[in-house]
Amino acid sequence: IHLKKLCLLENFHEAFMVSKLIGKGSFAKVYLATRKENNTQYAIKAFSKSFMQQQHKGIESLLNEMKLMRKLNHPNIVKLHEVHETANSVYFVVDIVAGGELLQRVRETGFLPAETLQRLAYNLLSALNHLHQFNIAHRDLKPENLLLKSYENNYDIVLADFGLAASLLDDNILFKRCGTPGFVAPEILEYNDGQQFYNEKCDVFSAGIILYLLITGGQPFTGKDQKAILKANKDCIIDFDDSLYKSAPIQMQNLIQFMLLKKSQDRMSSSECLRHPYFKELAKEHQVKL
Ligand code: ADP
Ligand code: MG
Repeated sequence: IHLKKLCLLENFHEAFMVSKLIGKGSFAKVYLATRKENNTQYAIKAFSKSFMQQQHKGIESLLNEMKLMRKLNHPNIVKLHEVHETANSVYFVVDIVAGGELLQRVRETGFLPAETLQRLAYNLLSALNHLHQFNIAHRDLKPENLLLKSYENNYDIVLADFGLAASLLDDNILFKRCGTPGFVAPEILEYNDGQQFYNEKCDVFSAGIILYLLITGGQPFTGKDQKAILKANKDCIIDFDDSLYKSAPIQMQNLIQFMLLKKSQDRMSSSECLRHPYFKELAKEHQVKL
């Protein structure tokens, strides 16, 4: 890659000691590492250059992920500190998010109480609102990309993986089909004829699916195979009469229903969600902190 103006550092192995593998996605491996100079721990998202070169627009998307992450600074978004390049790899040095994946935690602890869900929803939406203020859409919100900061509580989440994120300033309108079946907004699946475009509200939809999943323990779109899941996802028929769903606070149900509207024009934006009555008390608490 070697573009000096991208400020890629070149002393990775002198500066860091890598200890163990802590995560794996479809493009990168994530390692625990220590900065030798001050013994601080970081997570390193490591990309193999040759693997990325084999992917369609692989290097381009890696540089895009770096560019977008550099703009972001929010307590619920993984922080990128520096980027290194070696002969074979590119390394993103990010804050270590020590609490593991959200879904794993839920498997261990069981259903989350209503107050925890409320705080979690607020944190997730405020992360989205931060992105959306920079005109960035994450486009791949799903449980694996939500991590927990620590074991202290089950609501301080951190949004990771900007591998599919896009800037609406660069692209203005988004039309690439991407995301994960079952979590993706229906308008992204509608794009067949090149006519249907979408915007950052696709993230609000995916966040709604995640909240639905946390309440009921199941995804709203199911099917015997990928194709059937995609069809259910595209048709966007959601069972809001599910008994577990109905057991959630009524204001929470109301908010989620606005997040899961099929038509993105009708769907709430992330900032509208944060102003929903469901968050009235929490919003005050957060304002006091500011
Ligand atoms: P990919 O783009 O390949 O999907 P991710 O950024 O999603 O890579 O990282 C893969 C996995 O590594 C995540 O699902 C998560 O479990 C773990 N992970 C990512 N970032 C961190 C981090 N900052 N701290 C701890 N674990 C992380
Ligand atoms: Mg991932």
